[in-house]
Amino acid sequence: MLETVSDKLLNKEDPITFEEALQLTELSKSEVPDLISLARKVTLKYKGDGVFLRSIISAQTGNCPEDCSFCSQSAHFDTEVNAHPLMAKEKILLAAKQSEKMGAMDFCIVISAKGPTPRIFNKVLEAVDMLREETSLKIGCSLGDLKEEQAYELKEHGVWRYNHNLEACRSFFPNVCTTHTYDDRYRTAELVKKVGMNLCCGGILGMGETVRQRLELAFELRELGPSWVPINFINPRPGTPFENVETVTPFEAVKTIAIFRLILPDKILMTAGGREVTLRDLQAMGLIAGANAMILGNYLTTAGRSPEEDLRMLDDLEMPVRTDIN
Ligand code: SF4
Repeated sequence: MLETVSDKLLNKEDPITFEEALQLTELSKSEVPDLISLARKVTLKYKGDGVFLRSIISAQTGNCPEDCSFCSQSAHFDTEVNAHPLMAKEKILLAAKQSEKMGAMDFCIVISAKGPTPRIFNKVLEAVDMLREETSLKIGCSLGDLKEEQAYELKEHGVWRYNHNLEACRSFFPNVCTTHTYDDRYRTAELVKKVGMNLCCGGILGMGETVRQRLELAFELRELGPSWVPINFINPRPGTPFENVETVTPFEAVKTIAIFRLILPDKILMTAGGREVTLRDLQAMGLIAGANAMILGNYLTTAGRSPEEDLRMLDDLEMPVRTDIN
């Protein structure tokens, strides 16, 4: 099986099929090192060496009307999130400058919302303008559902990337959220592409989906065609409906990253939220297995590793930090 997939991806540049991906999930433990080695070769062939670093800020946290079962920011659940309204743009700028100093190339403004109200949207635009004037970071946003005119406005203000995850495959999505649909998410993701922003779109693994449904997500993403694919691993939050889900084991997580790389050879694959709690001591293996971007520093409501530790890991792996994206 690995020889067939290797020939397809390395020699013929042919995409692998769902059935082939399914067979990869059935590889034995002793075959996983070869899978990882192939994923590394595919990364180098399609994306080159090195890792992109991004940082994010939860500019508005909590009190979200949506009921995403993994999320501590939903107003539907009794969680201990530190909710706050939209930060002043000066505070966002301060965080952006710190990220820039740490080596991030890209900074994403995230708000908890179904979509931005006109007032919040205008304030985010003001923050974007300020960040573009005072830093050299590429600016991304993740503001929930967008109206078409909002998407065009973000693009006009120089937002180069918009994050809007599918979260889960179509068949599992109803288990994740009832206040909006998979199609709602898909529509905004397509809109982002339509207006010419880079689409950053991935999902969360370990919410109770089957291995097959993880592949469904990867293939649905391949169809959608984002340029960045964040792979989040659930970090079960107390008080949410998913607080007791069984997380993905570190070994399974590395194997899954490798298989995602083989399904999505030309995407920037980013390990995102939950990577510390899921990958634990296998963080570096996640990068060897095909991830080529990371979120540096903290996530939206949970703390990440220190940026110094991540930068040392890249140094130890002799993987350069990349800034050449455009
Ligand atoms: S994931 Fe986003 S939309 Fe869903 S509850 Fe959390 S903040 Fe709201």
